[in-house]
Amino acid sequence: MSQKTPITVAYGDGIGPEIMSATLRVLEAAGAQLDIETIEIGEKVYLSGNTAGITDASWESLLRTKVFLKAPITTPFGGGYKSLNVTARKTLGLFANVRPCVSYSPYVYTRFPQMDVVIIRENEEDLYAGIEHRQTRQVYQCLKLITEPGSEKIIRYAFEYARNNRRKKVTCLIKDNIMKLTDGVFHRIFDRIAEEYPDIQADSMIIDIGTARLADTPEMFDVIVTENLYGDIISDVAAQISGSVGIGGSSNIGDKCAMFEAIHGSAPTIAGQDIANPSGLLLSAVMMLVHINQPKVASMIQNAWLRTLEEGIHTADIYKDGMSKQKVGTQAFADAVIARLGQLPEKMQPVQFAENVNHIDPTKWQLMYSTEKKQLMGVDIFLDWNDGEANKLGKMLEEVVVEGLKLVVISNRGVKVYPNALPGIFCTDHWRCRFEATDRTAGISHQTVLNQLARMQEIGLDFIKTEHLYYFDNERGYSLAQGQ
Ligand code: NAD
Repeated sequence: MSQKTPITVAYGDGIGPEIMSATLRVLEAAGAQLDIETIEIGEKVYLSGNTAGITDASWESLLRTKVFLKAPITTPFGGGYKSLNVTARKTLGLFANVRPCVSYSPYVYTRFPQMDVVIIRENEEDLYAGIEHRQTRQVYQCLKLITEPGSEKIIRYAFEYARNNRRKKVTCLIKDNIMKLTDGVFHRIFDRIAEEYPDIQADSMIIDIGTARLADTPEMFDVIVTENLYGDIISDVAAQISGSVGIGGSSNIGDKCAMFEAIHGSAPTIAGQDIANPSGLLLSAVMMLVHINQPKVASMIQNAWLRTLEEGIHTADIYKDGMSKQKVGTQAFADAVIARLGQLPEKMQPVQFAENVNHIDPTKWQLMYSTEKKQLMGVDIFLDWNDGEANKLGKMLEEVVVEGLKLVVISNRGVKVYPNALPGIFCTDHWRCRFEATDRTAGISHQTVLNQLARMQEIGLDFIKTEHLYYFDNERGYSLAQGQ
């Protein structure tokens, strides 16, 4: 192999520079064919007044090389600084976060010596869409957005990953017993796509029991696919119980670009002391080498790394009396890996990455887009109101319901409070007033919604938001209030 692959590298903050230089030394010694462009991101850029933590010149490099090896960064508190990770994932369209969580027992202590789980987390949607509002004095809202194409992409990616990596099972974790529409669509799409992969077992679990089982019996899982927030939480749980956050690597994969980083942060309290474990970043770099189709170098590095662990040469975070032989610093650990390049582990299973193993091309997928007929059937009008109890509001609204609509229910925090509500329900200043079409076959027009808003404005009600109520091919596209 002679042609070098251009990559963009950021040394980051805290322990970032030391673990990055250790990692790059190993890559170079192993003969990785890389043409490295270095960019500055993170704390210094933030503190220079750039709230995104990254400059235009850095974006230019990333969009050109399309491969990003990134050390952790420190996001300063306050000051409206945006999370660079979230920005990078969204701007580069990195929809899949892949985190292998593997035990290296007995060399790295864990209570789960058989653990070998890959968590594939949706990376762009869900509560991380970043759409938040303070709607009243008492109530704050964050929108959870789950899309059909976004779900299809991550789920298809999980099955493709499982097939390419000779994995046997994909488990979907969701909470569709509560979130019947958002998590429900994720689950439905999972079931549909699973049918296209009869060679891979598929199952699903509610996220709470799934997390409990993952923390208790991780051996029962193989590949997990889940939404953004659940994935964020369970991938830290899984990494922690596999041994140490210091050894977890991850990739963030998009249609065109990919970013590779350790799962841990910039660990400022141990920065500059040459004690941080560079393994998380090194294993991320191994994932990068597989991604850019340099599997032989990737295998050589990972095998040398396994051999180093086996020989008991450990950084402080995984050092354990009795098992470890030598406590080393960041650079000495890298030197130990370099000295073992070309050797295989003797006790743990050596790895051998195949050519093109992770070459999954999402741009070739024909995503399914729904085409149902959409019909407007009503409107939820949300009010900021602090002038009495629910019956008073109900009576005021009954007086101003416009033609074509009827007031069906008022709810507070999702619970029905009018009409005929149970007594003693706790209420805030945030009321959802549901109006539905009197004629279910005809539905209503946007003008009807405007008329209703105008009447409410006339009597001085402070509406803060509307949500339209749609049917899709005669199927209700909204949830009922509790008690409705
Ligand atoms: P952290 O992961 O930096 O540290 C958690 C604990 O793990 C600390 O005790 C730390 O010393 C230890 N640790 C982490 N990496 C280690 C390593 N390689 N070797 C040995 N020990 C290691 O998490 P935190 O303390 O919550 O966050 C610190 C900073 O990192 C914050 O500014 C946060 O915003 C940032 N952060 C960045 C990223 C990223 O850039 N991807 C991710 C998470 C946190």
